[in-house]
Amino acid sequence: MPKKNLHRPFTADPEMLARLPDITGNEINGVGEEQVRQPSMVYWAPDPDDIAFGKVQKWFYKHEPKDPELMKVRARRGPILEAPVPDLVTDRTERAPHDWTAALESFVETGDCERVGVARMRPEWIFDHHETKFSNVIMLGVQHNYNRLKSAPDQVAGTDVSHQYNRAAIAAKKVAGWLRQQGWDAEPVCGPMVGKILMIPPALECGFGELGKHGSLINPEFGSGFRLGAVLTDAPFAITPKREFGVDDFCSRCRVCEDACPTFAIKPKKEMVRGEYKWYVDFDKCIPFFAETSGCAICIAVCPWTLPGVGLKLAAKLARRDKPLQRGDTSKS
Ligand code: SF4
Ligand code: SF4
Repeated sequence: MPKKNLHRPFTADPEMLARLPDITGNEINGVGEEQVRQPSMVYWAPDPDDIAFGKVQKWFYKHEPKDPELMKVRARRGPILEAPVPDLVTDRTERAPHDWTAALESFVETGDCERVGVARMRPEWIFDHHETKFSNVIMLGVQHNYNRLKSAPDQVAGTDVSHQYNRAAIAAKKVAGWLRQQGWDAEPVCGPMVGKILMIPPALECGFGELGKHGSLINPEFGSGFRLGAVLTDAPFAITPKREFGVDDFCSRCRVCEDACPTFAIKPKKEMVRGEYKWYVDFDKCIPFFAETSGCAICIAVCPWTLPGVGLKLAAKLARRDKPLQRGDTSKS
């Protein structure tokens, strides 16, 4: 028996409903489309007036109670984003691809972020009407404070979301600056406002995890309790391998997030989205609750992989289950 959902039934605020556009978010995202195409910006546009859901995006910030801690964390964001990145120097540092990637990994040791990886850029990750000259995407992951995240959808969790995006932005600008000071052009991409590219697909590609039924990444170390930043560059990094550890199959048998979602936005089956069959959260069902809370986050907080210490044990258990039988091993017969 699933736990009683305290957020159901949910009735959307009429003020928010009045700001919805004529087109649905699912149409913008390409649900049901079989052709691969560039994504279109649906939310978190740097200029909300550029997108159909711009009025809803503006309402997100306008209607919420002014929690002092949240406001303090949000106020840090402007100076972080406006801080200049160092000039590009003309003398290039040359390293072998694996040495570049090893040098990048030192950012994890300094505590600027908790995970790094590199993927080769793909056209289907770049938003339509945008372009980039860069061939590599460096992904950076920052881990949530679970004790704060678990209170989602209240503003304690929302404050940690903002704090982690600040950390990701600081890390992205630091990595971009580090590259530019070594003669390699680089551009930071700082969420939650959308930059030129989608962030989840390159993160999947470079081993940050697998896509969960709740539409977010899951990995054994942090579950879904992390946020992303990125850096675009041509510096010749070795790519980081993709990783799989049974999440996709696990999600097909788990429904914790489906039951916890106030708006029934999480579906039991995958869908075709821009030419890819994958887990997809119904944007139009999610957005009213997401916009009324400080970004909701219930689905990532309740996911069993996010509970501290659980993800690694789950991954080990799934790996044991999937290990092929050795000759003479009768333990699974
Ligand atoms: S709660 Fe369960 S179904 Fe949802 S993403 Fe996590 S593991 Fe997958
Ligand atoms: S973020 Fe959206 S999909 Fe996730 S629980 Fe909240 S409303 Fe549901």
